[in-house]
Amino acid sequence: MKKRAGLGLRKRLLGVTLIPIILFGIVIILCSCNQLARSVHQEVESGLKNVAQSAAYIFEKEFPGEYQQNSGSTGIFKGNRKTEEAAEILETLKEISGSDISIFYKDTRVVTTILNKEDKPIVGSKANAVIIRDVYRGETERFYAETSINGQEYFAYYCPLYDSQKKCTGMIFAGKPSNYVSEIVLQGVLPIVTIIILAVLAMSVIMWQYSERLTVAMKNLQNFLMKVERGDFTAELGEVVEQRKDELGRIGKSAVQMQCALRELVEQDSLTKLYNRHYGEIWLRKVIEESAEKNSAFSVAIADIDFFKKFNDNYGHDCGDLVLRKVSNILRKNMKRQGCAARWGGEEFLLVFSDKGLEESLEETQRIADKIRRLRISYEDKELGVTVTIGIIEGDSRRNMDELIKAADQALYEGKESGRDRVQVGFVKVEAPLG
Ligand code: GH3
Ligand code: MG
Ligand code: MG
Repeated sequence: MKKRAGLGLRKRLLGVTLIPIILFGIVIILCSCNQLARSVHQEVESGLKNVAQSAAYIFEKEFPGEYQQNSGSTGIFKGNRKTEEAAEILETLKEISGSDISIFYKDTRVVTTILNKEDKPIVGSKANAVIIRDVYRGETERFYAETSINGQEYFAYYCPLYDSQKKCTGMIFAGKPSNYVSEIVLQGVLPIVTIIILAVLAMSVIMWQYSERLTVAMKNLQNFLMKVERGDFTAELGEVVEQRKDELGRIGKSAVQMQCALRELVEQDSLTKLYNRHYGEIWLRKVIEESAEKNSAFSVAIADIDFFKKFNDNYGHDCGDLVLRKVSNILRKNMKRQGCAARWGGEEFLLVFSDKGLEESLEETQRIADKIRRLRISYEDKELGVTVTIGIIEGDSRRNMDELIKAADQALYEGKESGRDRVQVGFVKVEAPLG
């Protein structure tokens, strides 16, 4: 489901960015095809017009005189010469211009470069009705983008031919096959289409990678927030979000700050900045579980400030708070790398030594008690000293948290009873048999 959600986001991102690009690409291709086709058609038209007019001029020069059908001789004459003699001139013109040329007497081809399937010129064939109407009868030059000659489509230019009385006696045609013109258009369009397709592909790859990075970062942020929501304040935000300089990176930073603020609210005691009782319990339960799993040693201690009430009574509540903070500082600094120090309540503290047996923990506890004993607290114009009594027991993962705390508390009580300012070792009183 999660994978699909990520993929869905990526698809949406690609959709909103690529669909406009693809549509834009299609519009550009269509516009450029249209523009190119139009300019090629114009060019072909003016080229064919030149060829037709040149052919008419040369024909008139080489074959002066009127059309006539001589009796006793086959074919059409122009002046003294047979019109079919013009075939050679038309072939030369075709080689130079690349266009087919035909000469019409009235509406009938008398000379042409267009060949039929048997490679014979299609002499004797007629122009179609529209051309006869427009050019021969209408006596106007005309360009046709699509006209069928001998079963093939042509771009064609027709000019009327006149005799000496300015009467229309025939036509001249210059043309190129339509597929030849389409090929020119295609050749012109192909690079544009290729460039646009490559650009769309490149954009797709860039967007795919960008959206992938974005999706990974968003999923990372989502996982982080879900962990925080479940109360996991040790969860770390991945580098994929942290290193981003954009809005997502800033949201990530805010999420981490929110995690810290929540952690403080949930885990910390506001006066002493030690862990609070709730978090001390979580910690101790975790240590008991780990010890059961790994068979590792641990120790539990409860510390209580001696005659703390006197600070309040003699110098005021603020002085009491100051003493609590100073003692807490020593506890926090010294327990940092070896376990947890939590404010258990009032002027009592829970110390949990993870991975330490009783002997080592006892040494550490005495060292901490010494430091507190040497502490001098300046309050107003006075230098105050403070001592603690600590009850300590060796941890036992077969016992639950309450049993361990109760045993440490009992040792603390004995320490108080026997004169305070000391570390008293206790043991877990077996009330119920194990297992
Ligand atoms: P003992 O050596 O037997 O522990 O004597 P004690 O005076 O330390 O113990 P007691 O339980 O009689 O007094 C603890 C006092 O701590 C009572 C309470 O008003 C005070 N106290 C609890 N929390 C705070 C706090 O946050 N700030 C201040 N200033 N005083 C507090
Ligand atoms: Mg006390
Ligand atoms: Mg107390």
